[in-house]
Amino acid sequence: MSNVPVAVVTGSNKGIGLAIVRALCKQFPGDVYLTCRDPGRGQAAVAQLQQEGLQPLFHQLDIDDPQSIRALRDFLKEKYGGLNVLVNNAGIAFKVHDTTPFASQAEVTLKTNFFGTRNVCTELLPLMKPYGRVVNVSSMVSFSALGNCSQELQQKFRSDTITEDELVQLMTKFVEDTKKNVHEKEGWPNTAYGVSKIGVTVLSRIQARLLNEQRKGDHILLNACCPGWVRTDMAGPQATKSPDEGAETPVYLALLPSSADAPHGQFVSNKAVRPW
Ligand code: NAP
Repeated sequence: MSNVPVAVVTGSNKGIGLAIVRALCKQFPGDVYLTCRDPGRGQAAVAQLQQEGLQPLFHQLDIDDPQSIRALRDFLKEKYGGLNVLVNNAGIAFKVHDTTPFASQAEVTLKTNFFGTRNVCTELLPLMKPYGRVVNVSSMVSFSALGNCSQELQQKFRSDTITEDELVQLMTKFVEDTKKNVHEKEGWPNTAYGVSKIGVTVLSRIQARLLNEQRKGDHILLNACCPGWVRTDMAGPQATKSPDEGAETPVYLALLPSSADAPHGQFVSNKAVRPW
């Protein structure tokens, strides 16, 4: 088993994830895994970084596929005995003008952005080593979406006692409400991506609380963040930040020094904590 520190970035064959891997290859003192669902796209991305003189490693990971997540978990356990840095970056968004029915958009978006991210956390968080760093890439859109929820939902999502099961029930209810076309009547905003990112932000708050309760002495720091508006296939060419600039806040959180005890359980944008 290797004692080398190890970092994993999900959805990192392109966009912000690839830029996070690039920065970690330069700054993280250990092995950095570029992971993605399609090995062909992954190897091409590895080759691109190799041409820049960097040495990322590759492992397949489709966050929609529990078997794929478990295979990565077993690999990390066996080769490294755990994990030092996890960046949950993989995500999807339908384009504004996409004509896919809203209920389908809701189901597909929540499946990856919330349920897939949660499944990765369920399998990989127990592997986090002392002083580990976990970064969940959410979005400022989670704030605007929260503001457009009913008062009752806002209260639930801001609660300091909401459980992971309760959050899962709420995310499931959103998808079901869209199928019955009652989501607005039930207090939901009209954005599947926004609700999925509410889920990621609230999940991060819950996970940080659980780490405080169950592994306080391990000094693990876990946060949600927004990379900013970044020129990628998701956000398009008009966005204001380059992918490398978008990687800055996630990388800052991934590399918080061992002397740091904060931020933890926060939403961070431009390296600053934003109250939820
Ligand atoms: P992107 O260029 O579209 O890249 C998304 C990445 O996620 C791709 O590598 C994609 O892989 C991967 N992915 C999607 N579904 C996956 C799955 N089931 N399993 C594994 N990987 C999967 O988007 P981006 O702009 O870099 O976004 C990265 C993260 O930042 C997302 O969580 C996004 O919501 C968030 N974000 C972006 C912006 C922005 O302005 N760009 C703003 C706020 C937050 P494939 O190539 O196989 O599709």
